[in-house]
Amino acid sequence: MTLPVIIAGAGPTGLMAALALGKQGIPVILCEAEPGLTHDLRAGTFHPPTQEMMAPYGVTQRMHETGIQVRRWQIRDRRSELIAEFDLGLLSDITPYPYRLHIEQHRVTPIQLDIIRKETEVDVRFGHRVMGFAQDADRVRVDVEAESKPLVLEGSWLIAADGGRSTVRRVTGIEFEGFTYPEQFLVVSTPYDLGQHGYAMNSYLSDPVEWAAVFKVPDDGPPGLWRAAFPCHGERSDDELLSEENVETRMQGLVARPERYDIRYKSIYRVHQRVAKDFRHGRVLLAGDAAHLNNPVGGFGLNSGIHDAVNLSDKLIRVWRGDADDSLLDRYVRQRRATCIDEVQRMSIRNKRLLEERDPAVQRQHLTELVAIANDAERARKHMLETSMISGVRKAAEIA
Ligand SMILES: Cc1cc2nc3c(=O)[nH]c(=O)nc-3n(C[C@H](O)[C@H](O)[C@H](O)COP(=O)(O)OP(=O)(O)OC[C@H]3O[C@@H](n4cnc5c(N)ncnc54)[C@H](O)[C@@H]3O)c2cc1C
Repeated sequence: MTLPVIIAGAGPTGLMAALALGKQGIPVILCEAEPGLTHDLRAGTFHPPTQEMMAPYGVTQRMHETGIQVRRWQIRDRRSELIAEFDLGLLSDITPYPYRLHIEQHRVTPIQLDIIRKETEVDVRFGHRVMGFAQDADRVRVDVEAESKPLVLEGSWLIAADGGRSTVRRVTGIEFEGFTYPEQFLVVSTPYDLGQHGYAMNSYLSDPVEWAAVFKVPDDGPPGLWRAAFPCHGERSDDELLSEENVETRMQGLVARPERYDIRYKSIYRVHQRVAKDFRHGRVLLAGDAAHLNNPVGGFGLNSGIHDAVNLSDKLIRVWRGDADDSLLDRYVRQRRATCIDEVQRMSIRNKRLLEERDPAVQRQHLTELVAIANDAERARKHMLETSMISGVRKAAEIA
């Protein structure tokens, strides 16, 4: 079989799969609908296992040139300040990266692309939108729209890394099970240093109405930007939510100051908890947001996409070369789907609930429990192994 692997989508997941396959000499065509890499504001946290997985490709090292190493993260209560703090340095005996690396997604994808271009033969095609596919026993024919003209590409396998609204997933008919939160999320960035008010560079604020997630990203260089995500309840238009007054009010609610905030970026988005019922449809494999979506509290979405890409590529290389039969790909599905449901969905839903709990007694109970975990070295370590995704990756590796 000499047909290439076709990948739909040059987001972090598709690029990682292209890099992993391309480095092993597997022919790859990477089709991206947009004319270039997308630059919208999205993920910015890379957990230890993700850094470990990207390291053999030289991506992690390049990310460290501008990324911020964040060892401590906090749970705070909007009224009574710091509740609990966790220090990832405690995991330095099991990972060379005992910290979250903060760097914007749109600064990482150019690194991935640069390495692909310099070190592989991957055929990267921007302006190529995957519209559908047909498959038989030994190939998949992928319908592409390239500069408004139809094109058919033949491949051995098709990886759907075309994001949450995946066209490929829709064509497979695979159900995207789960739910969408009623509220939207407002994300705001400012150069104002929230660290001077005691915030760790990754902090979660619990509050029944005004909960928030705060983290620092490098931007173009020092002083970097502090990014805050807030829930937006009720029926208000995007324009109202993004209005200067609303954004200012939310930021003043976070840290009150006499001056107005210098706002560099603001965006609004909807959040889902969904996992595809299957990650495989014959010769089509789903990965990244095309396969699963979760809320951003905990920073698991992009990390999971990278984990998918690396896990799938390892197996696909063996299948493509004829060293393993294609049932190995079902193991990818078993491992990654279980992790998405048992770890990522569970933790991200739990994290959001913890922050937004409306019953003061229940909230107090949750927060007291967190303090107890933080004050008990063994429990704190277990909690950090879980929240840094190390436990999930280990458990997945054990799934046959
Ligand atoms: C506001 C926001 C904040 C987030 N914060 C975090 C965070 O802190 N931590 C975290 O881990 N995750 C976070 N996420 C999630 C994270 O951004 C995604 O999980 C990540 O982008 C998934 O990467 P992906 O490559 O699977 O999909 P995407 O990044 O969506 O990439 C899909 C690519 O496919 C292309 N495409 C789409 N359709 C087609 C088609 N038909 N043919 C060809 N190409 C196509 C798109 O143009 C895009 O380039 C956040 C998401 C949002 C929206």
